Amino acid sequence: MAVTAPSFVPQTELMDSFGRVHSDLRISVTDRCNFRCAYCMPEEGMQWVHRSELLSFEEIERIAGVLVARAGVRSVRLTGGEPTIRARLPLLVEKLARLRIPGTGEPIDLAMTTNGATLPLVADDLFAAGLRRLNVSLDTLDRDCFLELTRRDELPQVLSGIDAAVAAGFAPVKVNAVLMRGINHDEVVDFLRLGRDKGVTIRFIEFMPLDAQGEWTAERVVSRTEVLEQAMSEFEFESLERGSSPAERFRFTDLEPGAPGSEFGIIASVTEPFCQSCDRMRLSAEGQMRNCLFGLDHVDLREILRGDGSDDDVLAAVAGEVERKWAGHAIGQVNFIRPSKSMSQLGG
Ligand code: SAM
Ligand code: SF4
Repeated sequence: MAVTAPSFVPQTELMDSFGRVHSDLRISVTDRCNFRCAYCMPEEGMQWVHRSELLSFEEIERIAGVLVARAGVRSVRLTGGEPTIRARLPLLVEKLARLRIPGTGEPIDLAMTTNGATLPLVADDLFAAGLRRLNVSLDTLDRDCFLELTRRDELPQVLSGIDAAVAAGFAPVKVNAVLMRGINHDEVVDFLRLGRDKGVTIRFIEFMPLDAQGEWTAERVVSRTEVLEQAMSEFEFESLERGSSPAERFRFTDLEPGAPGSEFGIIASVTEPFCQSCDRMRLSAEGQMRNCLFGLDHVDLREILRGDGSDDDVLAAVAGEVERKWAGHAIGQVNFIRPSKSMSQLGG
């Protein structure tokens, strides 16, 4: 009779009261940024977290290590603010790339989201340190519009950054674009051409009410349906199996299946929320763990670590935070409450 090895059961499953199991950890490594995207940060007046209040690499490694070893976390994404402006980031990547999934001994799925401007300088080091998946945020291919949106004239640097990421070996490189009516709503075809030319996966993300200025309105959201209409005016494509990903996936039918640039995606976080299958939790740069971008509360892990708390204390705090997660974000409904922090502070 064949004997199969028992699969590993985490000691604490991070399950909320709706039965959603949490295995994806987003870690913000800084709240600072070299851009000032209008939908994310005000141009001036941000209150930065003091250096001493940021989690150290050792503290981040400890939290991620406990959650991977004992709570079923399988994927970690570094974000910010702009993660690449945190000094010596490849050292943190090395530490996290060493984490192994209990039972299988496999590495975790380690990824990063960046605005891309510094990638020409750091892409090789990050790849060498063990990072394998990279998302670059880019919302317009028009230089004037880029300057208006990010308040920086750095479109050429970001485009070079995408090339540097591909050359370093990241595959697939994903490029995330947030479309906003009246600003960049008509760039779907241009982005899809860029994806096909550069061999990267474009993903359109619906604009969410997390902008520091509070300028979000439902009318400014460019919906999934509108993106598909623009795409269909120029390309032929078909739907792909979605799996557990929040992105709906499509494949250009004239390109080799699986070839770089042969797919694109849509993340309809506003018009078709995927809250019912959400498995994410977020750690801010100063150590606050939140169960949702739109959560109004958090648990302070830095206080536990710096107060000599044990791994059990960390685990219990995270499990409690996950347990009280809401069913969904309620954007567009009367009971929606806008979070007081922006994406850059929460760790988008
Ligand atoms: N600085 C990095 C970057 O821009 O990729 C990482 C942090 S940034 C906060 C992460 C993502 O949040 C970016 O893709 C950005 O486009 C997205 N974002 C910021 N504000 C947003 C909003 N109001 N609605 C939708 N996405 C937003
Ligand atoms: Fe910076 Fe990213 Fe926010 Fe833009 S979206 S201001 S790049 S953190």
